[in-house]
Amino acid sequence: MKKATIVWALLFIAALVASGCGQEKVPVKTMKQEFVNIATGGVDGTYHTIGSALAEMLNKSIPGINVNSQVTGASIINIDLLSKGYADIALMQNDVAYYAANGLEMFERNKISNIRGVMALYPETLHVIVKKNSGIKSIADIKGKRVIIGSTGSGTVTNARHLLEAYGISFNDIDVKYFSFADSATELRNNRADVIFATVGHPTRFIKDLAKLVDIEILPVEQEKIEQLSQKYAFYKAQTIPSGTYPGQIEDVQTFCVTAILAVSDKVSEDMGYLIIKAIADNANKIKAANEACSDIKIENASVGMTLPLNKGAERFLAEKNK
Ligand code: GLU
Repeated sequence: MKKATIVWALLFIAALVASGCGQEKVPVKTMKQEFVNIATGGVDGTYHTIGSALAEMLNKSIPGINVNSQVTGASIINIDLLSKGYADIALMQNDVAYYAANGLEMFERNKISNIRGVMALYPETLHVIVKKNSGIKSIADIKGKRVIIGSTGSGTVTNARHLLEAYGISFNDIDVKYFSFADSATELRNNRADVIFATVGHPTRFIKDLAKLVDIEILPVEQEKIEQLSQKYAFYKAQTIPSGTYPGQIEDVQTFCVTAILAVSDKVSEDMGYLIIKAIADNANKIKAANEACSDIKIENASVGMTLPLNKGAERFLAEKNK
């Protein structure tokens, strides 16, 4: 293109913008709403089951929409994906969401203000798993061991750090490993790791499968440590994994939990927020059937443990339900 043509073209564009024509945003907005990305977690986790179910429900109920669920490292990375616009909907732990919204812990230098809550879902229980014959009988024995603390970018990493710190153990005192749930089971089974940390709704399929292949033990967290942790970190609550939850588990295991929440970017409209929570409420039974850990999903508990300001549409849906 000749120089003069380029100058004329630029002048023409400038004139269009000045006259307002260049500000026609409707098609862009429509595109944005047509393609929706849900950030979940590893394929073997509960986030992925819910994300995939939600994608299917939204694709069925909203004409013209194209929703995809994405495998990720879970909570921390999901917040990053949402806030940077790479995802529109995401699952995450309420403790991590709280740290993000308030600029604490791993978000100390990166407070996140552009994500909104849709609903609180179900408790996520911290499982500390070892092989039965490993000689590791308590959390204190973990010092010096090969420890899988979750996948990179997961909330599990934070929970593992807090729990170990309560026992005076830092990540420098252990051989730290990052693996997804499915891969951690393989590592433990093949003697390449001694301990797995997993913050995930119970019962969890990958732990059930692992327990069928090798004898495992889920280590209890002492009552005193749970109290200490929940005083320091507001979102830790005592939780029992009842005996019989996993093959070979003959006793209740005392540990603690956080809450899984569903969140969206602040670019997600009020109407879309409304449709998302409605899809979950209308299909709660289907989600429960897909994953036992979701049996606690109840619209009455949608605000319990929510740590983010709500999307306006989700707020409207809940107000209508509570009338
Ligand atoms: N709570 C986990 C995390 O963020 C993910 C659980 C799941 O994938 O179901 O670390």
